[in-house]
Amino acid sequence: MNPKQPALKKTKEVEVVDEEEGKKSKSGPELLRGFRDILPEEQGRWSFVRDTVRSLAQAYTFDRIDLPILERSDLFQRTIGKGTDIIEKEMYVFTDPSNRSVALRPEATASAARAYIEHGMLDRPQPVKLWYLGPMFRHDRPQAGRFRQFYQAGFEVFGGEEPIIDAQLILIGKKIFETLGIDVQVQINSIGTPECRQAYLTELVSYFRQFRNKLPDDDKRRLQKNPLRILDSKEEVTLGLLEGAPQILDWLDEKSKEHFMKTLEFLDEVEVPYVLNPYLVRGLDYYTHTVFEFLSAQDEGDKAQTALGGGGRYDGLVGLLGGRPTPACGFALGIDRIARALADKNINPPPFPQPQVFFAQLGDAARRVGLRLYEEFRVAGVPVAEAAGKNALKSQLEVANKLGVKLTLILGQKEVLDGTIIIRDMESGAQETIDSKKIVSIVQRKLGGDAGVVAATHSPVADS
Ligand code: AMP
Repeated sequence: MNPKQPALKKTKEVEVVDEEEGKKSKSGPELLRGFRDILPEEQGRWSFVRDTVRSLAQAYTFDRIDLPILERSDLFQRTIGKGTDIIEKEMYVFTDPSNRSVALRPEATASAARAYIEHGMLDRPQPVKLWYLGPMFRHDRPQAGRFRQFYQAGFEVFGGEEPIIDAQLILIGKKIFETLGIDVQVQINSIGTPECRQAYLTELVSYFRQFRNKLPDDDKRRLQKNPLRILDSKEEVTLGLLEGAPQILDWLDEKSKEHFMKTLEFLDEVEVPYVLNPYLVRGLDYYTHTVFEFLSAQDEGDKAQTALGGGGRYDGLVGLLGGRPTPACGFALGIDRIARALADKNINPPPFPQPQVFFAQLGDAARRVGLRLYEEFRVAGVPVAEAAGKNALKSQLEVANKLGVKLTLILGQKEVLDGTIIIRDMESGAQETIDSKKIVSIVQRKLGGDAGVVAATHSPVADS
């Protein structure tokens, strides 16, 4: 510490009232509700999910796109639609210092469509296939598996109206889950075109009007503002009434029916099992034709099956944003929930190869030499653990034991003077003193194929 720098004063703890929780909390650093840290011990699962998504995206020739977290709020208001929970109450909207209304993105499909238009991607060979990964924000009521900042990986295909695109996107999602070892159930429905949906909605509203008095308040509101949403109500009363309600599939026009049938045929062709769910509508306004979700197969049959991802076709979105009308289809996976599903199955792969070598250094001279040797190991691609903050050999060896390394290198004052280093086999306890210039190659030989060489699997692009 700089001696001139005054010692930090212990700040007086001020009690503040958290408006949301209505209870007193301390003024110390604290997470916002619905936000969380993803700790080092969870990173193995997260890397596994991200790496799997990345490698499948590459295998299916999707191009990566990184989209901003902050966008003009009207991008979402125009596309996601009034009467949706996201727009009504979940979006983080604020005025920026330039007096513009901006929003933390609640999802990224609208941003991808904006980027498609803004960068003239219509002039590239179609379809344009993009994928992304990053945080989304929704001021939702926090509960298990529901966060206010959560991560999605998304796949979007612009400029193709063929049902094979819908089917291949579902297949890609399914393959990602298969690679991760998570069983999912694919649920699918078609909500047709805005025109046939309108006729269906008239019918649906008149059906539910008869039972208006029985409906819970939330569903009464949906009936008025966004009647399609009544189909994914979780309320017991509404679920009962839904059994007699008109079904959207009966209202599809010929073209929509054909699109849906072909999508299903392609899925049969690639042997992706699916469940037809006539109540699946996926709240957002911009969907057309196919809508689908990936649900955890573990809680199959539960009323509130965990959705691990979802998507659909959105042929009207690019046109709605002022671009030349362009058919499109996509889906997003919820990384937080997928990582949770892996944890439930006790799957936690190490985020990168664990070090097999520990470096113990005694005294300042050894530290100086150690720093240089450490670099040599890094260049050779051999990860080395150390506990540079500890002085005693005993405490350093304790750390080495805890880490379960194979070899420990010991560098003391004497070895520095002799130009040597001690190498200790942790299992047998055998030690030998060797020329420090040869240490990297000797360690590599002793570890054989187990050197834990750091593979360059991580994309240079920031993932979060
Ligand atoms: P959506 O398009 O809203 O259905 O989101 C796609 C996927 O993102 C969902 O199936 C969830 O797995 C995940 N997701 C959505 N909202 C949240 C949230 N608040 N917290 C965690 N994951 C979420």
